[in-house]
Amino acid sequence: MLKLEQVSVNYGATCGIDRISLEVREGELVTLIGANGAGKSTTLRAINGLEPLAHGRIVFDGETISGATPAAIIDAGISHCPEGRRVFPQLTVRENLEMGAYRRQDRQRVRRDMEQMFDRFPRLRERVSQVAGTLSGGEQQMLAIARALMSRPRLVMFDEPSLGLAPNIVEQIFALITEIRSEGTTVLLVEQNAYAALEMCDRAYLLENGHIVIEGTAGEMLANQDIRKAYLGG
Ligand code: ATP
Repeated sequence: MLKLEQVSVNYGATCGIDRISLEVREGELVTLIGANGAGKSTTLRAINGLEPLAHGRIVFDGETISGATPAAIIDAGISHCPEGRRVFPQLTVRENLEMGAYRRQDRQRVRRDMEQMFDRFPRLRERVSQVAGTLSGGEQQMLAIARALMSRPRLVMFDEPSLGLAPNIVEQIFALITEIRSEGTTVLLVEQNAYAALEMCDRAYLLENGHIVIEGTAGEMLANQDIRKAYLGG
Protein backbone atom coordinates (compact mmCIF):
# COMPACT_ATOMS: atom_id res chain seq x y z
CA MET A 1 0.00 0.00 0.00
CA LEU A 2 2.75 2.44 1.05
CA LYS A 3 6.37 2.13 -0.04
CA LEU A 4 9.36 4.29 0.77
CA GLU A 5 12.25 3.71 -1.61
CA GLN A 6 15.64 5.01 -0.47
CA VAL A 7 14.14 8.14 1.02
CA SER A 8 16.43 10.85 2.41
CA VAL A 9 15.51 14.16 4.07
CA ASN A 10 18.07 16.80 4.98
CA TYR A 11 17.76 19.74 7.35
CA GLY A 12 20.36 22.09 5.89
CA ALA A 13 23.64 20.29 6.38
CA THR A 14 22.09 17.86 8.90
CA CYS A 15 20.74 14.56 7.70
CA GLY A 16 17.27 13.78 9.10
CA ILE A 17 16.88 10.37 7.47
CA ASP A 18 19.21 8.60 5.06
CA ARG A 19 17.97 6.17 2.39
CA ILE A 20 15.06 4.72 4.33
CA SER A 21 13.19 1.92 2.56
CA LEU A 22 10.09 0.50 4.17
CA GLU A 23 6.70 -0.88 3.34
CA VAL A 24 3.25 -0.87 4.93
CA ARG A 25 0.78 -3.38 3.51
CA GLU A 26 -2.95 -2.88 3.47
CA GLY A 27 -4.52 -3.72 6.84
CA GLU A 28 -1.23 -3.86 8.73
CA LEU A 29 -0.19 -2.09 11.89
CA VAL A 30 3.48 -1.22 11.39
CA THR A 31 5.58 0.57 13.96
CA LEU A 32 8.78 2.62 13.83
CA ILE A 33 10.82 2.49 17.01
CA GLY A 34 14.08 4.15 17.96
CA ALA A 35 15.65 6.71 20.29
CA ASN A 36 15.06 10.46 20.27
CA GLY A 37 16.38 11.99 17.08
CA ALA A 38 16.56 8.67 15.20
CA GLY A 39 14.39 10.06 12.40
CA LYS A 40 10.94 8.66 13.17
CA SER A 41 9.03 11.94 12.99
CA THR A 42 10.98 12.98 9.91
CA THR A 43 9.87 9.77 8.18
CA LEU A 44 6.21 10.54 8.90
CA ARG A 45 6.63 14.17 7.85
CA ALA A 46 8.19 13.04 4.57
CA ILE A 47 5.25 10.72 3.86
CA ASN A 48 2.86 13.52 4.71
CA GLY A 49 4.46 15.94 2.27
CA LEU A 50 5.76 18.25 5.00
CA GLU A 51 9.46 17.68 4.25
CA PRO A 52 10.89 17.70 0.74
CA LEU A 53 12.92 14.61 -0.18
CA ALA A 54 16.61 14.98 -0.93
CA HIS A 55 16.56 11.50 -2.45
CA GLY A 56 14.20 8.61 -3.20
CA ARG A 57 10.52 8.14 -3.81
CA ILE A 58 7.30 7.49 -1.87
CA VAL A 59 4.58 5.40 -3.50
CA PHE A 60 0.99 4.98 -2.24
CA ASP A 61 -1.34 2.58 -4.04
CA GLY A 62 1.02 2.49 -7.00
CA GLU A 63 1.12 6.29 -7.39
CA THR A 64 4.14 8.42 -6.59
CA ILE A 65 3.13 10.84 -3.83
CA SER A 66 6.51 12.35 -3.03
CA GLY A 67 6.47 15.92 -4.25
CA ALA A 68 2.69 16.19 -3.80
CA THR A 69 1.24 18.80 -1.45
CA PRO A 70 0.06 17.79 2.04
CA ALA A 71 -3.53 18.46 0.89
CA ALA A 72 -3.16 16.11 -2.08
CA ILE A 73 -1.74 13.46 0.24
CA ILE A 74 -4.79 13.75 2.51
CA ASP A 75 -6.96 13.38 -0.61
CA ALA A 76 -5.01 10.25 -1.53
CA GLY A 77 -6.10 8.73 1.81
CA ILE A 78 -3.27 9.35 4.28
CA SER A 79 -3.83 11.15 7.54
CA HIS A 80 -1.38 12.23 10.24
CA CYS A 81 -1.87 12.57 13.98
CA PRO A 82 1.20 14.66 14.81
CA GLU A 83 3.56 14.55 17.77
CA GLY A 84 2.47 16.81 20.61
CA ARG A 85 -1.18 16.53 19.45
CA ARG A 86 -1.21 20.00 17.85
CA VAL A 87 -4.92 20.58 18.27
CA PHE A 88 -5.96 24.13 17.42
CA PRO A 89 -6.09 25.54 20.95
CA GLN A 90 -8.34 28.53 20.19
CA LEU A 91 -10.87 26.48 18.23
CA THR A 92 -13.66 24.45 19.81
CA VAL A 93 -13.76 20.67 19.79
CA ARG A 94 -16.31 20.78 16.94
CA GLU A 95 -14.19 23.21 14.91
CA ASN A 96 -11.11 21.02 15.36
CA LEU A 97 -13.05 18.05 14.00
CA GLU A 98 -14.30 20.14 11.09
CA MET A 99 -10.69 21.04 10.30
CA GLY A 100 -9.94 17.32 10.02
CA ALA A 101 -12.59 17.09 7.30
CA TYR A 102 -11.70 20.32 5.50
CA ARG A 103 -10.88 18.54 2.23
CA ARG A 104 -14.20 16.68 2.10
CA GLN A 105 -17.15 17.80 -0.02
CA ASP A 106 -19.72 15.31 1.37
CA ARG A 107 -20.93 17.58 4.16
CA GLN A 108 -23.82 15.33 5.22
CA ARG A 109 -21.51 12.40 5.72
CA VAL A 110 -19.08 14.65 7.56
CA ARG A 111 -21.88 15.50 10.01
CA ARG A 112 -22.67 11.80 10.41
CA ASP A 113 -19.01 10.96 10.96
CA MET A 114 -18.80 13.67 13.57
CA GLU A 115 -21.74 12.11 15.42
CA GLN A 116 -19.93 8.77 15.28
CA MET A 117 -16.83 10.39 16.77
CA PHE A 118 -18.95 11.72 19.61
CA ASP A 119 -20.42 8.24 20.18
CA ARG A 120 -16.92 6.89 20.33
CA PHE A 121 -15.54 9.73 22.47
CA PRO A 122 -18.35 10.81 24.83
CA ARG A 123 -15.94 13.22 26.56
CA LEU A 124 -15.63 15.14 23.31
CA ARG A 125 -19.40 15.39 22.98
CA GLU A 126 -19.59 16.80 26.51
CA ARG A 127 -16.99 19.39 25.54
CA VAL A 128 -18.10 20.08 21.98
CA SER A 129 -18.21 23.87 22.40
CA GLN A 130 -15.15 24.13 24.65
CA VAL A 131 -11.93 25.49 23.15
CA ALA A 132 -9.41 22.70 22.72
CA GLY A 133 -6.63 24.45 24.63
CA THR A 134 -8.59 23.99 27.86
CA LEU A 135 -8.91 20.18 27.50
CA SER A 136 -6.72 17.80 29.51
CA GLY A 137 -3.76 16.17 27.76
CA GLY A 138 -5.65 12.90 27.34
CA GLU A 139 -8.69 14.66 25.92
CA GLN A 140 -6.51 16.61 23.49
CA GLN A 141 -4.95 13.34 22.31
CA MET A 142 -8.42 11.83 21.79
CA LEU A 143 -9.38 14.95 19.84
CA ALA A 144 -6.22 14.74 17.72
CA ILE A 145 -7.00 11.09 16.91
CA ALA A 146 -10.65 11.88 16.12
CA ARG A 147 -9.54 14.81 13.93
CA ALA A 148 -7.15 12.54 12.02
CA LEU A 149 -10.01 10.10 11.39
CA MET A 150 -12.34 12.81 10.09
CA SER A 151 -10.69 12.74 6.66
CA ARG A 152 -11.72 9.04 6.39
CA PRO A 153 -8.12 7.92 5.85
CA ARG A 154 -7.14 4.51 4.53
CA LEU A 155 -3.76 4.88 6.24
CA VAL A 156 -3.38 6.81 9.47
CA MET A 157 -0.03 7.73 11.00
CA PHE A 158 0.32 8.33 14.74
CA ASP A 159 3.40 10.15 16.06
CA GLU A 160 4.10 9.40 19.73
CA PRO A 161 0.44 9.22 20.79
CA SER A 162 1.37 8.21 24.35
CA LEU A 163 3.76 11.10 24.99
CA GLY A 164 3.25 12.81 28.34
CA LEU A 165 0.04 10.97 29.24
CA ALA A 166 -0.87 9.10 32.43
CA PRO A 167 -0.57 5.28 32.23
CA ASN A 168 -4.33 4.63 32.26
CA ILE A 169 -4.84 7.10 29.40
CA VAL A 170 -1.95 5.53 27.48
CA GLU A 171 -3.69 2.16 27.76
CA GLN A 172 -6.89 3.67 26.35
CA ILE A 173 -5.01 5.26 23.46
CA PHE A 174 -3.29 1.98 22.55
CA ALA A 175 -6.60 0.10 22.75
CA LEU A 176 -8.10 2.70 20.46
CA ILE A 177 -5.32 2.36 17.89
CA THR A 178 -5.75 -1.43 17.90
CA GLU A 179 -9.49 -0.93 17.39
CA ILE A 180 -8.98 1.52 14.51
CA ARG A 181 -6.82 -1.04 12.78
CA SER A 182 -9.29 -3.88 13.41
CA GLU A 183 -11.92 -1.76 11.67
CA GLY A 184 -9.80 -1.94 8.52
CA THR A 185 -7.69 1.22 8.64
CA THR A 186 -4.00 0.64 8.02
CA VAL A 187 -1.77 2.12 10.73
CA LEU A 188 1.80 3.42 10.83
CA LEU A 189 2.73 4.10 14.44
CA VAL A 190 5.76 5.91 15.85
CA GLU A 191 6.34 5.16 19.52
CA GLN A 192 9.03 5.70 22.14
CA ASN A 193 7.39 2.99 24.22
CA ALA A 194 8.96 0.20 22.17
CA TYR A 195 7.54 -2.66 24.21
CA ALA A 196 3.93 -1.49 23.92
CA ALA A 197 4.39 -0.73 20.23
CA LEU A 198 5.86 -4.17 19.49
CA GLU A 199 3.10 -5.88 21.47
CA MET A 200 0.41 -4.34 19.28
CA CYS A 201 2.02 -4.29 15.81
CA ASP A 202 2.42 -6.82 12.99
CA ARG A 203 5.85 -5.66 11.87
CA ALA A 204 8.39 -3.08 12.98
CA TYR A 205 11.43 -1.12 11.87
CA LEU A 206 14.14 0.08 14.23
CA LEU A 207 15.71 3.42 13.28
CA GLU A 208 19.09 4.63 14.47
CA ASN A 209 20.71 7.87 13.29
CA GLY A 210 18.43 8.18 10.30
CA HIS A 211 18.91 4.56 9.14
CA ILE A 212 16.80 1.42 9.42
CA VAL A 213 19.03 -1.01 11.27
CA ILE A 214 16.67 -3.91 12.03
CA GLU A 215 13.27 -4.90 10.66
CA GLY A 216 11.02 -7.85 11.34
CA THR A 217 7.76 -9.19 12.63
CA ALA A 218 6.68 -8.18 16.12
CA GLY A 219 7.74 -11.59 17.43
CA GLU A 220 11.19 -11.38 15.81
CA MET A 221 11.76 -7.88 17.14
CA LEU A 222 10.64 -8.79 20.69
CA ALA A 223 13.02 -11.78 20.65
CA ASN A 224 15.99 -9.83 19.24
CA GLN A 225 18.77 -9.61 21.84
CA ASP A 226 20.08 -6.22 20.66
CA ILE A 227 16.60 -4.71 20.78
CA ARG A 228 15.94 -6.28 24.17
CA LYS A 229 19.12 -4.79 25.62
CA ALA A 230 18.84 -1.31 24.12
CA TYR A 231 15.09 -0.69 23.97
CA LEU A 232 13.22 -3.17 26.15
CA GLY A 233 15.22 -2.96 29.35
CA GLY A 234 17.08 -6.27 28.93
P1 ATP B 1 11.84 12.47 18.49
O1 ATP B 1 11.21 11.34 19.18
O2 ATP B 1 12.73 13.28 19.38
O3 ATP B 1 10.90 13.30 17.67
P2 ATP B 1 12.66 11.27 16.03
O4 ATP B 1 13.14 9.88 15.94
O5 ATP B 1 11.27 11.53 15.63
O6 ATP B 1 12.87 11.80 17.49
P3 ATP B 1 13.38 13.33 14.22
O7 ATP B 1 12.60 14.39 14.94
O8 ATP B 1 12.85 12.79 12.99
O9 ATP B 1 13.67 12.14 15.21
O10 ATP B 1 14.84 13.89 13.97
C1 ATP B 1 15.84 13.26 13.15
C2 ATP B 1 17.06 14.15 13.07
O11 ATP B 1 16.76 15.35 12.35
C3 ATP B 1 17.60 14.62 14.41
O12 ATP B 1 19.00 14.66 14.32
C4 ATP B 1 17.03 15.99 14.59
O13 ATP B 1 17.87 16.79 15.39
C5 ATP B 1 17.01 16.51 13.15
N1 ATP B 1 15.91 17.46 12.94
C6 ATP B 1 14.57 17.19 13.05
N2 ATP B 1 13.83 18.27 12.75
C7 ATP B 1 14.70 19.26 12.44
C8 ATP B 1 14.57 20.62 12.04
N3 ATP B 1 13.38 21.18 11.86
N4 ATP B 1 15.72 21.32 11.78
C9 ATP B 1 16.93 20.76 11.94
N5 ATP B 1 17.13 19.49 12.30
C10 ATP B 1 16.05 18.73 12.56
